[in-house]
Amino acid sequence: MSASSQCPHVDVRFHLNLAAFGDTNLRYLEISGHCQTCDQPVRFRGPHGLSPQHATVSIDGADASVPLTFGEEAYDGKARGYTMKVLR
Ligand SMILES: [Zn+2]
Repeated sequence: MSASSQCPHVDVRFHLNLAAFGDTNLRYLEISGHCQTCDQPVRFRGPHGLSPQHATVSIDGADASVPLTFGEEAYDGKARGYTMKVLR
């Protein structure tokens, strides 16, 4: 059993960044994090890529991107984005 598998990962620090998407009103909350005790990075799960419709994760799972708008705003951009299937 590795040292990180014995860590309860209860002291996790997340980094949040609010990014804009082109010239639309869409923003993305970018999330990454790591355990303060064992320094292991958080690995997010989900479809890989970037989409205005749903949350996605980077290829290595270290970053998640959650699309958002504010209040009652409707997304004023096109449904652009991409997802990738990872073959393992
Ligand atoms: Zn840990």
